[in-house]
Amino acid sequence: MAAALGAVMASTSAISYADGEVNVYSYRQPFLIKPIFDAFTKETGIEVNTVFAKQGLVERLVNEGLNSPADLIFTVDIGRLDGALQAGVTQSVSSQTLDQNVPAEFRDPDGHWFGLTNRARLLVTSNDRMAEGDIASYEDLADPKFAGKICTRSGKHGYMVALIASVIAHSGEEAAQQWLEGVKSNLARAPEGNDRAQVKAISEGLCDIAVINSYYMGAMLTDEEQSSWANSVRIVFPNQADRGTHMNISGMSLTKSAPNKDNAIKLMEFLSGDLAQRMYAEQNHEYPVNPEVAPSGLVQSWGEFTHDPLPLSEVAKHRVEASKLVDKVDYDG
Ligand code: FE
Repeated sequence: MAAALGAVMASTSAISYADGEVNVYSYRQPFLIKPIFDAFTKETGIEVNTVFAKQGLVERLVNEGLNSPADLIFTVDIGRLDGALQAGVTQSVSSQTLDQNVPAEFRDPDGHWFGLTNRARLLVTSNDRMAEGDIASYEDLADPKFAGKICTRSGKHGYMVALIASVIAHSGEEAAQQWLEGVKSNLARAPEGNDRAQVKAISEGLCDIAVINSYYMGAMLTDEEQSSWANSVRIVFPNQADRGTHMNISGMSLTKSAPNKDNAIKLMEFLSGDLAQRMYAEQNHEYPVNPEVAPSGLVQSWGEFTHDPLPLSEVAKHRVEASKLVDKVDYDG
């Protein structure tokens, strides 16, 4: 796989359009970003060469060092964006356009990463066995009245680590530990499967409450085999009475090596703008990071909500503690 990817990049750099290209390493799938890159090329004439991989791109950047052909890295999850920053493979970008289009809570204060799309970490509850308003916050997940009713994926997954890190940021580590122990003791089963599997479990009567990223509702509702899972639950935007719903992002960073830095920043700015934001968010039922751009009709139909304004850079500071807490309370055990 790595060798094949290397060949792809080598052949594209052999073409080497003088000043006319930008190279992207992406964890995001081609169907999401290819159409948007095509729109960028149409508008600017700048070719976008992309290497897709499921893992190992940051390691590859570390190994390639300043000889890396990559200009940009695309990924999901604040943990991975922060991981690239901590690995020293990114550089700071200062752009008025990006600072205007991407709210401060969804970008690194030093410009090492910028959010492109948002996902809300939702609660979903069984239409049959729960009533509207029965649960309202992440904190409620630890309420003993929900014993045996909750399903989540592994606490070690980035989406859970970020949520736990945000609870630490808001309430401190001691309170977060108590909370996580409470959630664990309410689990219907030991964590297994991905976010969608938790909704499936509700549809099968295994549990009544799950914690999932918002776009999976869109994915399931538009999938013939999975729509019955999604239709068995209602969406709850947590913490509307206080800090707001925890958000995570997909995002991008300029690499330290960036041989085509100017083109890369042009692409970054394009992606934060109207057309790209609409395309990107709609492809995956996500929320545009740019507040001027409306989400898709389906996503809008879930209603408006207040999101947690705590900067994700602050959440990132607690991700190591959060991972340790998951082990300490043996959340997955
Ligand atoms: Fe996901």
